[in-house]
Amino acid sequence: MSTRETSIETAAAAALVDPAKGQEWLQRYSDALLGVFGTPQRVLVRGAGCLVWDADGKQYLDLLGGIAVNALGHAHPFVTSVISSQLATLGHVSNFFTSPTQVALAEKLLSLAGAPAGSKVFFANSGTEAVEAAFKLARRNSAPSHDGKPRTRILALEGGFHGRTMGALALTSKQAYRAPFEPLPGGVEHLPFNDLQALEAALDETVAAVVLEPIQGEAGVRPLSMSYLQKARELTSKAGALLILDEVQTGVGRTGRWFAHQASGITPDAMTLAKGLGGGFPIGALVTFGSEVSALLTPGQHGTTFGGNPVATAAALATVHALEAGAVLRNADDVGSFLRGALAEVDAVEDVRGEGLLIGFDLDGDYSAEAVKEALERGFIINAPAPRTLRLAPPLVLTRAEAQTFLDALPGILDTARYTHEQNTAAQPPEDSA
Ligand SMILES: *Cc1c(COP(=O)(O)O)cnc(C)c1O
Repeated sequence: MSTRETSIETAAAAALVDPAKGQEWLQRYSDALLGVFGTPQRVLVRGAGCLVWDADGKQYLDLLGGIAVNALGHAHPFVTSVISSQLATLGHVSNFFTSPTQVALAEKLLSLAGAPAGSKVFFANSGTEAVEAAFKLARRNSAPSHDGKPRTRILALEGGFHGRTMGALALTSKQAYRAPFEPLPGGVEHLPFNDLQALEAALDETVAAVVLEPIQGEAGVRPLSMSYLQKARELTSKAGALLILDEVQTGVGRTGRWFAHQASGITPDAMTLAKGLGGGFPIGALVTFGSEVSALLTPGQHGTTFGGNPVATAAALATVHALEAGAVLRNADDVGSFLRGALAEVDAVEDVRGEGLLIGFDLDGDYSAEAVKEALERGFIINAPAPRTLRLAPPLVLTRAEAQTFLDALPGILDTARYTHEQNTAAQPPEDSA
C-alpha cells in the first residue's frame, strides 16, 4: 500500500496507535477535500461523554457538541447499541416500505410536540432538507387573497440561518452565503429582527409563510421575544399564512424544553428538526401541525431515498428515550442557568443570552476567533459565530463540574486572546501612519 492510501481499519485506528499525526492528516485533508470549510482546527479520533481526543492524543471538553448535535455526548452506550443492532437487523428499506422505528418515532415526536389530531411527520437526513420540505409546504399554501392577488411571499428574518441548499439558502439572510449563488428561489423577504411593526406591516394575504428561529443560533444565539412569537402566531393565523418554526438548532431538548417555542405557549403550523434529533446520527424532520396543513403536500409532491430509514429513526428513538430516562432536559436547564449566571460575572463578558445549553455571549472586543484558538490550546472546544461573540452548545449531559473547569479557565483564555488580538492588530499599522 502506498503511503498516500489508508485501509479502513487504519483510518479508524490510525491516530490511536500512531500518535503525532495531526499535521499529516491536515495536509492530506487539504489535498483531498473540497475547500468549503477552511482548515479544520484539529483531527478528532475518539469521544466519550463530553470529552473528545485528537490525533495527537490531546483531550478536549467539547462545549460545542458538533454544533448542538451530540445531545448525549459522544459514544453514548445505549444509542450506540441501538444503532448497531438495528443495522444488524434491517439497515435500509425504500420508502415504498416502512419500518416500526419510523412509525414509532413519528408518533413520539407528535406526542412531545403536543401536536393536535391530524398532525404528521416527514423525515429527511439533515436540517437543510427539513427546511426544503418546509419551503415546499409554504409554496403549497397558495390560496389567493380575497381580492385575487397571488399568495407567493415568504417572510424570514435578518440574521436567520436555515441551511445551504438553494431553497434553505433563499431563507438564510447572510449575503456572503447567498450572493455567489443567485438567482435563488424567489419570493423571500427578510425583515428586521424582533421588529413587530415591520412584521405587521409586511404581513397580509399575499404571504404564504413566515419562517422563524425561536432563538437565532448561527447569528450568535439571539432569542426572539416571547411577545414576537405570540404576535407572529396571531398575525399569520389572521392572514392565512403558515407559521413555520425552524427548530433545527433549538429543538429536542437543547433549550431545556423539548422544543424552544413551547416556552411561549404557541403552536406553529410546521416545525423543522435535525441537529440533536439523532444524537449524532444524521436525521431531519418536518412536523406539520393539524390535518389542514398536513394535507398541503400530497402523494408524489416530495420524497427522499434515505429519509426516515430504520437506522436513523432507531437512533433518534434511542436518543429521545435516553433524554427522557436520564432527565436530561432538567440537567440542560440547570447547568445552562448555572453557566449563564457564572458567565455574566466574567469581566470581559458583556451580554449573555440563550436558554438551556444553547448559550451565546459577547466579549469586550473583536477577539472571539483568538479565544476559540486559545480555548483549544487549553483543552476546550467552543465556537465564534461573530467577531465578538462566542457560542456554547455542549452535550445536554454536561455536568456542573465539567462546566466549572471551563469557567475556571475562561478569564485566562480571554486575557490571552485579547492580547493576541491586540498584537495582531498592532502588527498591521493603519495605511496613513507615518
Ligand atoms: C444548522 C441549521 C440548519 C441546517 O442544518 P444542516 O443539517 O446543516 O443542513 C438549518 N436551520 C437552523 C436553524 C440551523 O441551525
